[in-house]
Amino acid sequence: MSEHHRIIIMGSGPAGLTAAIYASRADLAPLVLDGIQPGGQLTMTTEVDNYPGFPEGVDGNVLMANMRAQAERFGTEVRFGEITAADLDSRPMKLEVDGSQQLTCDALIIATGATARWLPLDAVERLRGFGVSACATCDAAFYREHVVGVVGGGDSAVEEATYLTKFASKVYLMHRRDELRASKAMVERAMKNPKLEILWNKVVVDLVGVKEQGGLTAAVLEDTVDGSRSELPMTGLFMGIGHTPNTKVFEGKLDMDEGGTLITDGATSLTSVPGVFAAGDVQDTRYRQAITAAGSGCAAALDAEHYLVELDAG
Ligand code: NAP
Repeated sequence: MSEHHRIIIMGSGPAGLTAAIYASRADLAPLVLDGIQPGGQLTMTTEVDNYPGFPEGVDGNVLMANMRAQAERFGTEVRFGEITAADLDSRPMKLEVDGSQQLTCDALIIATGATARWLPLDAVERLRGFGVSACATCDAAFYREHVVGVVGGGDSAVEEATYLTKFASKVYLMHRRDELRASKAMVERAMKNPKLEILWNKVVVDLVGVKEQGGLTAAVLEDTVDGSRSELPMTGLFMGIGHTPNTKVFEGKLDMDEGGTLITDGATSLTSVPGVFAAGDVQDTRYRQAITAAGSGCAAALDAEHYLVELDAG
């Protein structure tokens, strides 16, 4: 016998929990499945300085704990779990959680986010949060007058490198090829920036630094053409090698682009299946901010509420 909910929200980042605040205030008693990273990407950062309402900044974990408490105050249930299979065609929709539990729901909000790609190096794992970051917008201000590096050659990497020049004294953009994949306009702007230097045909193969002694001090680069290695001093290294939206379980069931980002209907949160809504980074490759995720979570809850009213009216 499966357990039924009017509305299930997948994901507990700013998008999922904002959707939960709105849905619970509308008396829909949503169930939030907190997913692979409870609290979402903000739990990977330290101080959040760009979320409105916190003039002194706020710890990412505290912000997410507060959002969760606010959602629970109005009757949201937050439960540990990840959706492992979904039948979105049946009514009610059927979901399998953690390979065993069966749930059904009338409306589903997908706010599973995207996972930043990190270079698969032990040193990156060791120094994550100690000089190594995957979010320039979150952490750039900590690198005022520092020398930093960005890995990647796409729009994210170039955008992050350009943003970092507002704070850092020098920014190296390290790309594994001799041509950027980023848009022409963005590349032209980057090339003109006197603080930004592009290092072509370079891969980061190791990092120097001790977590307990201030973290990163240098990156070890390998030239992809001649194989030579060199050490480049820097105190910050930013991953700009892309994000993977967490949508695997919906492949073939919902419309998504070639990178796995869910496609929504224009300015709304509606996906290609009625009753299924998307919010946050899972449907956004452009802004990817906590506040834009929260805003889209609100929109998804309002869209879901509207859908349920129409469903009830027959
Ligand atoms: P992306 O376009 O997939 O670029 C990833 C970059 O990282 C590529 O240059 C790739 O190198 C490099 N890379 C991947 N794995 C690597 C590895 N293991 N080691 C070294 N380098 C590696 O990702 P993105 O830049 O995040 O952009 C994703 C999408 O969002 C794109 O459609 C982009 O246009 C969009 N976006 C738009 C904006 C905007 O409009 N403001 C901002 C950000 C992103 P190769 O080039 O050699 O493959």
